[in-house]
Amino acid sequence: MIMQPSDAISNPTAESPVSATRGVTARLEIRSVRRVFRGNVVAVSDVNLSINPGEFVAVVGPSGSGKTTLLRMIAGLESPDSGDILVDSRSIRDRPPRLRNLALVFQDPALLPHLSVEQNIAFSLDRRRLRRDEIRSRIQKCSHELNINHLLNRAPAELSGGERRRVALARALVRLPRILLLDEPLSSLDGPLGIATRDLIVRIARDHALTTLLVTHDQADALAVGDRIVVMNQGRIEQIGTPDDVYREPETRFVAGFIGDPPMNLLPCAFKSDGDRIAIRLEGIDSPIIEIDTTKLPTRLDDSIRRPDSTRFDLAFRCEDVRIHLNPNSVDKTIEPRVAAGSGSRATIDAVVARLEFRGYETIAALSVGPLEIKARSTANPQIRVGDRVRAELDLNKVHMFDRTSNLRIL
Ligand code: ADP
Ligand code: MG
Repeated sequence: MIMQPSDAISNPTAESPVSATRGVTARLEIRSVRRVFRGNVVAVSDVNLSINPGEFVAVVGPSGSGKTTLLRMIAGLESPDSGDILVDSRSIRDRPPRLRNLALVFQDPALLPHLSVEQNIAFSLDRRRLRRDEIRSRIQKCSHELNINHLLNRAPAELSGGERRRVALARALVRLPRILLLDEPLSSLDGPLGIATRDLIVRIARDHALTTLLVTHDQADALAVGDRIVVMNQGRIEQIGTPDDVYREPETRFVAGFIGDPPMNLLPCAFKSDGDRIAIRLEGIDSPIIEIDTTKLPTRLDDSIRRPDSTRFDLAFRCEDVRIHLNPNSVDKTIEPRVAAGSGSRATIDAVVARLEFRGYETIAALSVGPLEIKARSTANPQIRVGDRVRAELDLNKVHMFDRTSNLRIL
């Protein structure tokens, strides 16, 4: 019998210790899990994550950040060097993959080429000696949900990329798992097909109340599907939060520079401290653009910020928090530093439009400010042109600051 990777992954069998709770969603807990490969490659480092029953969590990070290794450890295809993995408070660390009651859909799912689509889906069920009519009914239900009824008699070679993905999903779902693990299920599905597949996955996960962990390198996909987002970088979790949390309140410089399209503006800046007031100027630009009255801040600023001539910080803000004024003279004539953390406080910066990226209902403008570049999102200024002198107005209540040494947010 030919084994394929996904068939090593479990399904609820009669002897499964969790089969009694089939159909009930599961809580998945990952505790201090670590995996080091040969050559001292730390693929996953001290990952802690608790996923609620029926929750849809999206893990996002660049290539090599440890996402696949994490999924493979949950599925039992890889053993953690340390840490534990629990389902409903019971360790599954030493449980073989087929008894974990979860399904993993691989990044490049391989179907058995000599079997029909229907046989591929039925492949693992047959071995479990389910009644024929039970197998039929499960396959029919899955095929209907995934819109592959018309493909059941085809050979895998006769499927498109999107169809192959749907068949791989059917093969996972027909086993009625309680936990669904998806490794880059949308990669290589471009445009409308990718979005349709994404919507389908979300609908099925919700309909079956599956505890779902979807891994992707695409932050837009992650934000679109996740109840919560886990941002990974170099084997570590940088932040766990709702899409809104990671978008608006990134905890690390990495998250600020990774989430969003475009990601946050990150501008190296320097400080001059004068008692409770701190003047911030952008690197390479002489006049300060912002003054912060530290007594008015909701958060305490790190003491290191008061060090003279410190340049270890980045000013960070979203491009939609910059307003472009086409006529610089219509705003403030002089560029005075403004006091942050008060209502309505804004800083103005003179800039030149360097590039425009048309996106339909909005335009992303790249603005040159001395040696720096600021991206601004504009829906109201279709008349701006490359080369225009503009005044950028920054909403200081939306500004963050990151320490470039620790990468942590300090404001
Ligand atoms: P991602 O899925 O986020 O791209 P992976 O989990 O595949 O990341 O890989 C994380 C790191 O572990 C990478 O540096 C990768 O080269 C390394 N790695 C993954 N699998 C192995 C393996 N079997 N042997 C050695 N190194 C590995
Ligand atoms: Mg991967």
